[in-house]
Amino acid sequence: MTTKTETAPTDTRSATSPESPHGAAPTILTLGCRLNAYESEVMSQHATAAGLSDVVIVNTCAVTSEAVRQAAQSIRRVRRERPEAKIVVTGCAAQIEPQRFADMAEVDHVVGNAEKLDADTFAGLATDAFARVAVNDIMGVRETANHLIGGFGTRARAYVQIQNGCDHRCTFCVIPYGRGPSRSVPAGEVVDQIRALVEGGYQEVVLTGVDITSYGADLPGSASLGRLARQILRHVPELARLRISSIDQVEADNHLLDAIAEEDRLMPHLHLSLQAGHDLTLKRMKRRHLRADAIRFCDHVRQLRPDVAFGADLIAGFPTETELMFDATLDIVDACGLTYLHVFPYSPRPGTPAARMPQVPRSEVKRRAARLRDKGDRVLGRYLAAQQGRTVEALMERADCGRTPQFAEISVSGSAAPGDVVRARVVGHDGRRLEGEPIA
Ligand code: SF4
Repeated sequence: MTTKTETAPTDTRSATSPESPHGAAPTILTLGCRLNAYESEVMSQHATAAGLSDVVIVNTCAVTSEAVRQAAQSIRRVRRERPEAKIVVTGCAAQIEPQRFADMAEVDHVVGNAEKLDADTFAGLATDAFARVAVNDIMGVRETANHLIGGFGTRARAYVQIQNGCDHRCTFCVIPYGRGPSRSVPAGEVVDQIRALVEGGYQEVVLTGVDITSYGADLPGSASLGRLARQILRHVPELARLRISSIDQVEADNHLLDAIAEEDRLMPHLHLSLQAGHDLTLKRMKRRHLRADAIRFCDHVRQLRPDVAFGADLIAGFPTETELMFDATLDIVDACGLTYLHVFPYSPRPGTPAARMPQVPRSEVKRRAARLRDKGDRVLGRYLAAQQGRTVEALMERADCGRTPQFAEISVSGSAAPGDVVRARVVGHDGRRLEGEPIA
């Protein structure tokens, strides 16, 4: 899983009836990753079906201490703005530290990550008898039921959960304690979900989860992420673009590599959970790959699919990291030919082994993160400059802005609608985004 909250900007979604801003419709604040964004859609449907009114659901993230601080800050703000509303806190921070939120006077209910996907929870919340804290042991959850969602907050692309939880124990990470063991959604249900979304007009679907490269390990037969991608593209021929969210490259199966090589509708963009570039750091993180494995993987995929673009998560300032070890992380950006960097200043998480290791001074953590971000700006600029003159197909997210198959942002003048795919010639860039001219 990406360790970064792929921060869906905190978005306030009123499920129905725009004419009463604080009226009957449930409001959902989503923090964190794409999986949280998907689950917020599910909760929105359950809450509306239960006739819940004047309720605010805060779907929290726990990946960094900053994410948890933001959750508490958002709750206090909501209480000021909505003194009468019922405030329900859920998500990974609530699952891992339920008492912390139950102790907040602003909070009415704390709901666990499994309970938040159960329609009965919302029927209960519609009464006055629902428990203040409904958080069970997430490690006991074995099933990941699929929830057929009709649509998504945006028209551009839809996220589909294929897997949840994680069986790994990276020394810096609390996600397994918020999400439980790895479990997969059966392929048939995933295909049905995607067919429904395509019939609803979506041209791009993103497969999401916590550790999606472990997809299928808990299912009968030989299910895998690669086999699933093939099944989706075979059984939903109308799907224009299939995108995979972040992967643990060391677990990528051969069917996935074959699909990357042979399936044009599988987007040539892979986001890797690399975390660091020095073998000793990777060992102390309890990652399952070494530096050479990551470089070899990127070289191999680039041979299979020359137009591929890579993104990666990288942590700066992991405990015991020396200047030399950090230089290896800077260097792996070039060695793997990365384009997009998600940079994390290391954040000690309570109860994790890394939090008990000798820490790098905060000022040094921040300095290294800044150097890594600078590196990220440079490699992105280099990549964008190399696209000059190319013809691309952009999936529009707004009337004037979209994403290429490689996930590069591109501005295209014209009157396209979110979700449209438009052809454009690249005529420039501003260091962060391409500039495209529409081709009729
Ligand atoms: S334990 Fe490791 S693999 Fe699992 S979610 Fe955390 S970082 Fe990802």
